[in-house]
Amino acid sequence: MGDILDDGAWSWLRSAKAGFWFNPALPCDAAGDPMVDSAVEEAEARLRRSIGLLGKVFPSVVNTDNPLRSALLPVSPMMERLGQSSEFAARCWVKADHRLPIAGSVKARGGFHEVIAFAERVALAHGLVEANGDLLSLVKPEVKELFSRYSVVVGSTGNLGMGIGLISAALGFRATVHMSHDAKAWKKQRLRDNGVEVVEHGGDYAEAVAKGRTASEADAFSHFVDDERSLDLFVGYAAAASELAVQLRECAIPVDHDQPLFVYIPCGVGGAPGGIAYGLKRIFGQHVHCIFAEPVQSPCMLVQMLSGMDRCVSVYDIGLTNRTEADGLAVAQASMLVAPLMVERLDAIYTLTDDQLLSLLLVDHETIGLGVEPSSASAFAGPLMLSTEPGKAYLAKHGLTDRVGQATHIMWTTGGSLIPATERAALLERAIQVAPFTTDF
Ligand SMILES: *Cc1c(COP(=O)(O)O)cnc(C)c1O
Repeated sequence: MGDILDDGAWSWLRSAKAGFWFNPALPCDAAGDPMVDSAVEEAEARLRRSIGLLGKVFPSVVNTDNPLRSALLPVSPMMERLGQSSEFAARCWVKADHRLPIAGSVKARGGFHEVIAFAERVALAHGLVEANGDLLSLVKPEVKELFSRYSVVVGSTGNLGMGIGLISAALGFRATVHMSHDAKAWKKQRLRDNGVEVVEHGGDYAEAVAKGRTASEADAFSHFVDDERSLDLFVGYAAAASELAVQLRECAIPVDHDQPLFVYIPCGVGGAPGGIAYGLKRIFGQHVHCIFAEPVQSPCMLVQMLSGMDRCVSVYDIGLTNRTEADGLAVAQASMLVAPLMVERLDAIYTLTDDQLLSLLLVDHETIGLGVEPSSASAFAGPLMLSTEPGKAYLAKHGLTDRVGQATHIMWTTGGSLIPATERAALLERAIQVAPFTTDF
């Protein structure tokens, strides 16, 4: 790939060492694509119309005032343990999507939105619900009877399958999840326990998606949730941005020229972080800095950003393995729906080794105990990456060196609250054996 762009970035990526890259393209002021923008607004409205429905089909959330909203949590003790000053640590927050009920991950946003949008289309086409009405009407017996004739199919490394499978089954669809080899046994079991069919594949995420797509195309009553191409997923994630904007206002945290916002989001195929970044740039423009985290063996978004958008390039093409403890991020090829939208919106990407993810998991466990999964722990490194040499160069390039002290930092914890205790204990057992987290690399 050395022919395409500067050799430095490629040889660093091939070496599978952690690091920080920033986008040489100056980000736009985020005038969005009008078609995508209106889809984001529709998704926000659809998710609002779904709150009653979710309370009905998932009795466990009936007392939650909005099961699609996650908390914004202060995390000072963790950031201080990571060597930050108390002043800096007080400016760091976690957007706790790992605690979203039912799915236990960010997939509750995009995944739930896509299935609910499909359900609404089917019910509308049969004249069983009113346009733009409260979606509680999807629980009517005649609607459920209709849905039982349809199936929803998805390919996943685990969490997307969990989100899609559980809501599909709860609404009355037949649900099939095609799982890659990365998928954890407990995730498959939980799905089966909830009436979801799980098909196991020996290959990676892209293969699971391809198998699911082929199986679904053969069936006219089947809807395939295409994680590599779906706009319904993307805009479901993007809807998180307005939720965060409201929370920041409630906490009296301004986002402006003097007080920029940095957001750190773990990236797999790109749908979740890309959607969130798209939404945030719509609202905050150049005052928000969207930074993604990827494993050193699966930096698919970074590989695609470095390669340009004319053709797909995967991490295998540069000799990486796509093997990582961060199962939610074990994706070799970025979404080509999302990657082009990131050229002018994604500010930077950093990569971490599995040992670093485990060390961050341990710091969380020993300080605030959020209980995230390794994929999610990657977000905790974000604020520290700004003090690496390339991080400082990024700040200097954007004229932020003097203002970074007034910035707000949000680490998006994308999943993990459903990990069984034995699984968590095994991860922590390994985590105590790795070196403490450092940005000296
Ligand atoms: C799915 C997922 C991500 C990333 O989402 P993509 O849409 O694949 O980029 C990050 N973290 C966790 C825990 C996830 O489940």
